[in-house]
Amino acid sequence: MVKFKYNHKKCDLPYDPTELRPTKCLKCLEVCPKSLLMFRPLKKKDKDGAPIRFEIHMIFKSFADKFCPDCMKCVEVCPSQAIEISF
Ligand code: SF4
Ligand code: SF4
Repeated sequence: MVKFKYNHKKCDLPYDPTELRPTKCLKCLEVCPKSLLMFRPLKKKDKDGAPIRFEIHMIFKSFADKFCPDCMKCVEVCPSQAIEISF
């Protein structure tokens, strides 16, 4: 069973309401051979109710359990050590 740990403070993808996607990095998404990683606005909001940043998450757990081949490319490519994966 794959366990995905992600630290949004290390990753730091600022939320820009004029952009539909993060304008920084996303190397982990690019290298994943199974396209198991995605981004979304972090649930935590600022004082004006806007998301403070984007976060990376792994798609449906049952799907990831089946298709994540333990390649560790996302962990290795991350410049901020924001991702940990264990099985
Ligand atoms: S370990 Fe490999 S397949 Fe699994 S999420 Fe990371 S890059 Fe994708
Ligand atoms: S590679 Fe690391 S720093 Fe870049 S978006 Fe992914 S988790 Fe964030």
